[in-house]
Amino acid sequence: MITWLCGQKQPCYYIGFPEKLATMSNTIVDAFAFCRLGEQRAGVTPVAGFARLAAEAAKPEGEIRWSFQGGRHPRGYPQLNMAVEGEVGLVCQRCLLPFSYGFDAQSVLVLASDEADADATEEALDDESVDVIVGSAALDLLQLVEDEVLLSIPLSPRHPQCPDGGSVPAPELTI
Ligand SMILES: [Zn+2]
Repeated sequence: MITWLCGQKQPCYYIGFPEKLATMSNTIVDAFAFCRLGEQRAGVTPVAGFARLAAEAAKPEGEIRWSFQGGRHPRGYPQLNMAVEGEVGLVCQRCLLPFSYGFDAQSVLVLASDEADADATEEALDDESVDVIVGSAALDLLQLVEDEVLLSIPLSPRHPQCPDGGSVPAPELTI
């Protein structure tokens, strides 16, 4: 009886475990191989799944849609194209009411092997539209997504127009 129970339980346990690992490693990639092989990843992650972002948000609601495409910069460097869009609940700094802040950002990330290489690559490229990052064999894509969203959030988020009418009136259009 005991042997039978163990025999039943163990396979269940081991069947579950690798699946979970696969889900986790799906967003942790060998950055250089990812670019070389032209791989892609895309997903949707709830705001609540990002610790730093959830701490910034008024409410940990909403979700972030993200995608990565590996490739090569025209000058030969390994390159990641990242697209991030979604919405996060922030508090308007003018009227102090919560509102949904939407963003949609595309970035070109060029990989360097270490900090010194990153500095040299940055200088060689001299291109402000490209971000040079240090790649690794275990690059956390979701961390890049979270960094991107945090960067896109304004320091002082505000409604385009506050619902209580407290906004600065737009200048009158004269035609
Ligand atoms: Zn407001």
